Amino acid sequence: MKIMIVDDAPFMLEIQRTILESAGYKVIAEAANGKDAVGLALRTRPDVILMDMVMPEKSGVDAAREILEKLPKTKIIAISTLDQESMVLKALDAGCKSYVVKPFEKAELLGAIDQLLDKNQHVETAYE
Ligand SMILES: [Mg+2]
Repeated sequence: MKIMIVDDAPFMLEIQRTILESAGYKVIAEAANGKDAVGLALRTRPDVILMDMVMPEKSGVDAAREILEKLPKTKIIAISTLDQESMVLKALDAGCKSYVVKPFEKAELLGAIDQLLDKNQHVETAYE
């Protein structure tokens, strides 16, 4: 499974990469704004994207919407701080599967990914 991480704060990218790699996930791409995120996602086709909502150039909401228009199977997890609750609702409206509130614990981030994968498995087995 290929994961892409997007955040305009370098330390957030570092934290996420460390957590994901410690759990055995492969981080194939990193972007620091929504504009780069769209371009990179189309090129690298990640299975899961952790998408910060508030970023320069292009917001995470707009980036998520654009990516899902072209790659609708991508699972995008919105990442947002507590004071941006309306942003989270917009993210879900844009097609993000779930959201994680910053600052997050390692278990919360990994739990959000596990939940997506469990749901996928459930859907797959439903058609057997
Ligand atoms: Mg940000």
